[in-house]
Amino acid sequence: MICLTLAEDSIEKAILKVEENREYIDLCELRMDALSPDEMKKAYAFPSLVNIPVILTFRRKIDGGRIEISERSRRLALLDALKGDFSYVDIEEDIKKSEVEDKAREKGIKIIRSLHDFEKVPEDIFSRLYHLSERGDIAKVAVTPKSFQDVLTLFRVEEELRGREKIVIAMGPFGVATRILYKKLGSFLTFCSDSEVAPGQLSAKTLKTEYMADKVNEQTAIYGIIGNPVMHSASPLMHNRGFHAINFNAIYVPFLVDNVRSFFMFAEYVKMRGFSVTVPFKVDVLSYLGNITREVKQIGSCNTVVRVPGMWKGINTDYYGFIKPIVKDIDDGRIKSALVIGAGGASHAIVWALRNYGVKVTILNRTLSRAENIAKLNLCDYDSIENAKKYEGSVDLIVQTTSVGLYPDEDKNPIEGFKFTGNEIVYDIIYKPKMTKLLKEAEKAGCHLHFGSEMLLEQGKLQFEAFTGYHYPHWVDSGL
Ligand code: NAP
Repeated sequence: MICLTLAEDSIEKAILKVEENREYIDLCELRMDALSPDEMKKAYAFPSLVNIPVILTFRRKIDGGRIEISERSRRLALLDALKGDFSYVDIEEDIKKSEVEDKAREKGIKIIRSLHDFEKVPEDIFSRLYHLSERGDIAKVAVTPKSFQDVLTLFRVEEELRGREKIVIAMGPFGVATRILYKKLGSFLTFCSDSEVAPGQLSAKTLKTEYMADKVNEQTAIYGIIGNPVMHSASPLMHNRGFHAINFNAIYVPFLVDNVRSFFMFAEYVKMRGFSVTVPFKVDVLSYLGNITREVKQIGSCNTVVRVPGMWKGINTDYYGFIKPIVKDIDDGRIKSALVIGAGGASHAIVWALRNYGVKVTILNRTLSRAENIAKLNLCDYDSIENAKKYEGSVDLIVQTTSVGLYPDEDKNPIEGFKFTGNEIVYDIIYKPKMTKLLKEAEKAGCHLHFGSEMLLEQGKLQFEAFTGYHYPHWVDSGL
């Protein structure tokens, strides 16, 4: 179930939030500690006003609550609210048996016995969860993974406590994947909010419509993208839309990773069938691959990993994703020479692709030695980016592969002052923004343009095929 956390200062605002999200949620949690003192007195009426199951929570300051209040006043406020038709009440693990618990049991309100840790995942998490659930209540842990290894520990909870009703929530940036894959952790609900009440929370709409997190079942295959950072990635939207359109029982999740080894352990544990790889792991994953394609071998970087019998196989779809939008122009002889700006990971794949298609390439880079390395491997020319003007009017294709001009530095152009003749094809692989400063200038000169979003879409379609065995559905808006 998807549960909306309501941390509003009035009942009226909380009701409004429920109405805005009603189509995406199954229940909600009223955080009494966020209500103003006058509004707390009205809390009891809330369940009957929203007409969905409600969890009553009065979080203490030490557990992330909004107000400092004596334990006695908190207990009295909870007791008063329990006059209402709440479905659940949250009581912390260290609170001794009280009138709140007695009243809840008397009224048949289920008790969620909760443990919070904003610092870490406690080492004894399995036994603490076990003890929490011993009294027949719903055990809840909200903890903070500090590494991907901690995330793996949380995915083991279901094996350790199978069959017990529980809520397992990981807070913070490492925890996002657990909020989406809550069902795989054996958690009976996931919390969401419009305003990130707890760190790492997603919106109800994102969980319900983008991830369809509530539709995950035992058979759902897990795919995803590893990176650091990773939350900006457009790939989850694209792949999840594709999966839903062809009724493929799978989910694609962003995984913030700090260590590739722990991710491969996780991938084995949850039996992943494949994942995308982004910065900074495109080289690190190579050591874990039992099989690589010719492109991965040539470029030395891998952006797609798929499961094949007995091992992981590495593919590089950036290579084909880049070349696809311009391959016709190469075949027609319209592109015979190219200037590639930048000599990073993406440039490496692009230079290989252009050279394999017989295009004459000159690489320009700020750090000359990096340009030289790629140029030597590919039998092409190289120069300093400062000399860009030397190449005006002499090439058919200009490819921009540096991160200069990337959001939020949209007013930057790595070859400022470069004069286009209007005959060049200009391809900027940055996809945010779509229209970079360089492309705007090329457009003014009358050049034909290609966008980073084209490359992203094409490489994503190839990943989709590698993951599912199906073409990306042509009728779907990929969001790119
Ligand atoms: P990378 O390996 O870190 O390389 C960065 C490149 O940018 C290097 O050539 C670097 O030059 C240059 N650079 C950075 N800051 C600069 C500055 N201030 N002035 C001049 N040059 C500068 O990154 P990457 O993986 O190749 O990615 C580069 C860009 O491509 C990113 O914006 C990424 O989002 C985009 N990309 C798009 C797609 C797609 O599908 N559309 C796929 C992959 C990558 P030095 O060598 O001198 O540091």
